[in-house]
Amino acid sequence: MLNHYRKRLIEQLLAQGISNSNVLEVMGATERHMFVDEALSSHAYTNNALPIGYGQTISQPYIVARMTQALLSQTNISKVLEIGTGCGYQTAILAQLVKKVYTVERIKPLLDKAQKRLEILGLNNIVFSHNDGYLGWNKYKSYQGIIVTAAPTEIPEALLNQLSIGGCLIIPIGYKGKQSLLKIIRNHNTYEQYVLDQVSFVPLQKGLI
Ligand code: SAH
Repeated sequence: MLNHYRKRLIEQLLAQGISNSNVLEVMGATERHMFVDEALSSHAYTNNALPIGYGQTISQPYIVARMTQALLSQTNISKVLEIGTGCGYQTAILAQLVKKVYTVERIKPLLDKAQKRLEILGLNNIVFSHNDGYLGWNKYKSYQGIIVTAAPTEIPEALLNQLSIGGCLIIPIGYKGKQSLLKIIRNHNTYEQYVLDQVSFVPLQKGLI
């Protein structure tokens, strides 16, 4: 049963143009308050980004839905690489929609916390890595989908290389205050690029914490 807050959130997402019924269903069923500190849990179902510590934020539900819907518009997405686990909310949504999720985070305490939450939720098709997402995760390539939840100023080469033929990369690119959300499709050695939205993400940063 959808609670009142999640039902309202889904109505907002529908009004904002999210039409993939699987995405809406999973977002309606996922308890976003589990992913933020207790002090903020009353804000968990508002359509806003919220702080998760270490200067990072949980993405706005609309953006999570938009990115997930864009990724799933490509067919045959079963293996997905996520860069920027953060609190694990986007990871939880993906894990309920695809076969396997590989997720990479540079801040160890955030990764550990996310891993615990996702285990409690019983999502056991997720593999975690404490590493620099600029490098992707070469060991498990190729991925039919790659989703990046922090913004670099240029597309990391490794991510393009780790995409399967026909695979789809969803990534925000640019500087603070001026970022575009891109959808990139790989065809052998060429890439098609589309701009989906203007967005505001935290920067993709080098080095581990
Ligand atoms: N999807 C997450 C978004 C968190 S914000 C959520 O909804 O909670 C972006 C995350 O990207 C932060 O946790 C940040 O630490 C992480 N990040 C930034 N640069 C990174 C890098 N080079 N490699 C891996 N993770 C990175």
